[in-house]
Parts: sequence; structure tokens; C-alpha cells
Amino acid sequence: MSTVGFIGLGNMGSGMAANLAKSGHAVKAFDLSKAALDKAREAGCIPVASAAEAARGADAVVTMLPADLHVETVYKHEIFPNAAAGALFMDCSTISVDAARRVLGQAADHGFAMVDAPVSGGVAAAAGGTLTFMVGGEQADFQRAEPFLQAMGKAVIHAGGAGAGQAAKICNNMLLGATMIATCEAFVLAEKLGLDPQRFFDISAKASGQSWSMTSYCPVPGPVPAAPSNRDYAPGFATAMMLKDLKLAQAAAMSAGAATPMGAAAEALYALYAANGGQEKDFSGIIEMLAGKRS
Ligand code: NAD
Repeated sequence: MSTVGFIGLGNMGSGMAANLAKSGHAVKAFDLSKAALDKAREAGCIPVASAAEAARGADAVVTMLPADLHVETVYKHEIFPNAAAGALFMDCSTISVDAARRVLGQAADHGFAMVDAPVSGGVAAAAGGTLTFMVGGEQADFQRAEPFLQAMGKAVIHAGGAGAGQAAKICNNMLLGATMIATCEAFVLAEKLGLDPQRFFDISAKASGQSWSMTSYCPVPGPVPAAPSNRDYAPGFATAMMLKDLKLAQAAAMSAGAATPMGAAAEALYALYAANGGQEKDFSGIIEMLAGKRS
């Protein structure tokens, strides 16, 4: 078993670090929050006083931080100067494709192996060890990362070279945002046309309008009992998170010169929903705004 440095013990990282410890690794855990460190100790990790200390002497380092700036700063000032030669880095945060490519390039310049490995699946999947990892980086680095990621997830998929994990994540979530809005619009129109929502679900779930947004996460209460629509849109996948991913997708589209008008519309609509009280609600709650109801 290995010594793993784990930096960022928030909603996602706390469960992931616990699962690494459970699988037998010595996990040196760090977060800026004292409460997060206490929780990590209870979960079998070894709390340390800084990100530099988490990196020092570790065979591998996992980061699970909020956004670009946190990731770039922690790698530049704490991890690169302190990690042992030959260490492997896995950044599981959701960040921009450009930032991921920059950090992987800097790691290579310092002689380290690194992959970007963002996740699909929320807090429950992080705690339960059932995340899906989308991994970008060299094949040899992917193979080194795989056993660590498997201890935290149910699927580990090599997406391609540096930044490809982040690319897969934001393309998938842009598709999800757009299909959710389209599904909501269809239910709103169906109701106005006098169709019973359950009947419309029964038909569309078996017809060409079917999607994950319809059959796994139906935005109207009733047809899919586990969906957030049945608990007043408690997340689930919060609108704030969806909006973050849609913004990353638009930034990537701009940078790559891709036309993504549906993705742009989804970003604008989720920004409007977030500004009108939907920020903390599940992203399927946007149906309330589209139906003209107050959230
Ligand atoms: P979070 O805000 O709960 O956790 C982030 C943690 O990082 C916090 O505990 C914070 O104290 C810590 N942190 C910030 N700067 C630090 C530093 N310099 N050194 C050490 N610790 C530092 O966020 P989260 O929900 O755990 O999400 C983490 C990442 O995973 C984000 O990029 C998010 O987009 C992504 N993600 C989240 C979900 C989800 O459902 N929450 C799902 C998929 C992906």
C-alpha cells in the first residue's frame, strides 16, 4: 500500500479520502478547514498542517479543490516544490480544460507524472466509492492512477491526453444541461395542452424524446420516485454546480472556436434561474421558472 497526500476535504474530497484510507493507503490529508481535518481523522486519515506536508514523501497526491485558481496555486506553491521525485498527481477537481493542460504541462516540466481526473456522481457517490472518473493524460500515467481511482469509484475511463478528462466532463454536462431544459419545456407544454404528465412520461420515455433527464431525473414529481422533483428539488446536483460547468463549457468553446448555441442558451437560462432563487436547488428545478412559478 502507498502513502497518498489528499488536499481538499470538502463535500466530495472527505468521502474520497475516507475510501482511500479504507482501502489500506496511508492518507495524509489537508484542508484549510479545521472541521474537515477532524472529520478526516475520524475516517482513518492522518491530518497534516499544510498542503506541502501532505505532498512531502507521498507516492501519490490527490487534489479535490473548488476551481482553477485553487488548483494552480496549490500545485505551484505547495506540491511541485515539496513532492518526492517520481510522485504521481491526480487532480479530481472540475476546472477549465486550459488550466488542466497548463498544470499537467508544469508537472511534466518538473519531472512528475500527472492526470486530470474529474468525476461524475455527487456527494453520495463520493462517500459510497461509486464515482466515475474521466481521465486525461499519458497512457502510462493513467495506468499508475487507475488503482488509486478504483478505490474511490466504480468506473475509471481513459478519455485521452492532457485535459481530456475535463473536456469529457464539460461536454457531458453541457449536454445534460441542454437536455434537462428541453425536457422541462416539453413537460410544461404537454401540461398546457392538457396531457397528464405521467401519460406524457410513459409515451416519451419509450419514444425518441427519451433521455437521462427524462427517465432517471424526471423534472416533474411522480414518474421517477428517486428524482429530486419529489423532494421539492433538494439537490441532487445543485444549479450552482451546473452553472459552473456550463460556464466552463462556454469558455472552452470560445477557446477552441466551437459553435455551441444550445450550450450558451443553457448557461443563460441557468444563470437566470440561479439569480431568481434557484442557486441551491437541484438543476431540474428550472422547470418551476419555465412554468412561470416562483421557486
Ligand atoms: P467544497 O467547496 O465542498 O470543497 C472544497 C474544499 O477545498 C473545501 O473544504 C476548502 O476548504 C478546500 N480548499 C480550498 N482551498 C484550499 C487550499 N488552498 N488548500 C487546502 N484546501 C483547500 O467543494 P466540493 O463539492 O467538494 O467540490 C470539489 C470539486 O469537485 C469542485 O471542482 C466541484 O466542481 C467538483 N464536483 C463536485 C460535485 C458535487 O456534487 N459536489 C460533483 C462533481 C464534481
